[in-house]
Formats: sequence, structure tokens, C-alpha cells
Amino acid sequence: MRPLPQEDFAPAPRPASAGLNILVVGVGGQGVLMISKALALMAQRRGFAVKQSEVHGMAKRGGIVFSHVRFAEQVWSPTIARGEADMLIALEWAEALRWLDHLRPGRGVFIADTRKIVPPFACRSRKLGAPSAYARETPADVVGRHADGCALDATGIATALGDSRAANTVLLGRLSAWLDYPVAEWHEVIAAIVPKGTREINRAAFDAGRAWTPPAPDEAPAASAAAAVAPGPDLRIGVSIDAAWCKGCGICVKLCPERCLAMDGPKAIVRTPAACTGCRVCEWLCPDFAVTVRNEGVPA
Ligand code: SF4
Ligand code: SF4
Repeated sequence: MRPLPQEDFAPAPRPASAGLNILVVGVGGQGVLMISKALALMAQRRGFAVKQSEVHGMAKRGGIVFSHVRFAEQVWSPTIARGEADMLIALEWAEALRWLDHLRPGRGVFIADTRKIVPPFACRSRKLGAPSAYARETPADVVGRHADGCALDATGIATALGDSRAANTVLLGRLSAWLDYPVAEWHEVIAAIVPKGTREINRAAFDAGRAWTPPAPDEAPAASAAAAVAPGPDLRIGVSIDAAWCKGCGICVKLCPERCLAMDGPKAIVRTPAACTGCRVCEWLCPDFAVTVRNEGVPA
């Protein structure tokens, strides 16, 4: 359970000539496939045989998404067997834990966003601040005990840069520190696969992820599962809907367990904010990223 010591942190880059098995996991809408596409392109440029296998059905937002990327001089199977992933890149914390057994024991590199997307079935009580059935393991339980690597708030870093959707590129930047490929080439590949208007933010996100270092132990938040879900006197919850992004599909209105939301003509609005438990179902399911839930007592 030791936190990763600063002096142990510097990654030992894999040589550019080495083939790898890389597993990228997350939930719908997070950009798993963008990471695997960037990896596949980088590998192809080196003349490797590349196989990519992915599951992204039922994943509009919230469903499980994973992508296996394998490259070497010769690759037979498109999927990575349990215990044979050289690297596991997770865009969501519970998915990171779910796939941990695919890493090579003692040798695999683990890179995960610490942000949680709590599925509706984990919200067993609708009482304000009630504990959820979400995974209890903390980053400190995983990093340093089971694998080389790191857990970072990639979503927070991307948000600070101006767009939380670039969290996947933050993780790609972090991953790049373990691969001996030129930074300029990463930039080129990213620019080729992201939408034109997002090239700048994605480049900044990549650089931020690559340059990330873990906070010193006394700066690290006291992250325990109990602290993450316990109600406290400062519990502050708020839900807001950005009318400019809302297309009025009504998904959030129909699925809010507390009936806090309503349609107001062509847009969704927050009707009874006081009833909101901060479960994040609306934020998670909105296909247009129009909903933001602030839940400072139950960190994301
Ligand atoms: S789910 Fe999103 S797009 Fe649909 S009504 Fe709600 S806020 Fe608008
Ligand atoms: S408004 Fe959103 S966060 Fe609040 S209870 Fe409804 S679904 Fe959950």
C-alpha cells in the first residue's frame, strides 16, 4: 500500500524496436479508441505488424469499452490473454481494477485516471451522501503494490487545460513516457486523428500527461474509499445543464432517479435541485456532455 516514491518514478522507456501488448479500457464516450488508434499508427510507422481488437457496442456513454492493441514483427492473435498485457491504460478507475489481472505479473505498466464514473447499479441508496457500491480500492492499493505505473487525475488535468474530454490524451501522454518514440511524432499522429478544432487542446493534454509527476507524499490527497463516499458537513451537490449543448433528447429527464430534471420546451432544465443526490447518472448518460454534476462530498 505504499505510495509510489518520487525517486522510483522515472519510467524506463521500452525500446522503439520492441513489440508490445497494450490494453486500453474505459467506458463509452471517453476516447478509448482514439488511444488505441494512435498506438496502432505509431507501431505501423515502425513497420510492425499490428492487430487491434475492440468492443464498443452498447457504449454510447457508460457501457464498457476496451481495445487490445498488439504489435510485433509477427502477431497472430488479435487479443491479449490474461497476464500478457505489457501495459494497461484505464480511463476509468473501476475498469482499471477490472482488467488488472491482464497485466504481466510483476512487469506490466499500469496507467489509470483516478476519476470514477459510478454506474447506476452502484447507487443502492438514494439518501444524500449514502455510500455507493463502487469499488473500494484506492490508487495507493494498486500502484506500487501490483504494478509499475501511476494513477493520476487525468480528467482534472484536462479540465484545467480547458476540456475534460482530452483526459484520454493526458493518459496517452503519460503512456508515451514508457515508449521510446519521438514526441514530435506523437504530436503528428494525434493531430491526424483528432477533430481539427481540438488539435491544440489535445497537444497540450499530451504534453501535460507526458510531463506529469506524482505529487510529493505530503501533497497527496488522503484518498481512502471511506473518505470518498462518507457524507460530511461540506457535502455540496449541484447539477447544471448547458443549454447551448443540450439537444433536448430527454434522456437525463427520463433516467434521473430523483426526478430532478424536466423538459422546458426543447431543452432540459433542473427543476428540483434540492432533490439531487449527486449520483451523476444524468452527467454520465447525456450524449452531448451538456450536464455537469458538482459533488464535492463524493469526489468524481
Ligand atoms: S441528456 Fe443531455 S442532450 Fe439530452 S436532454 Fe439531457 S442535457 Fe439535453
Ligand atoms: S440530477 Fe443527475 S445527479 Fe442529480 S439525482 Fe438526478 S441523475 Fe442524479
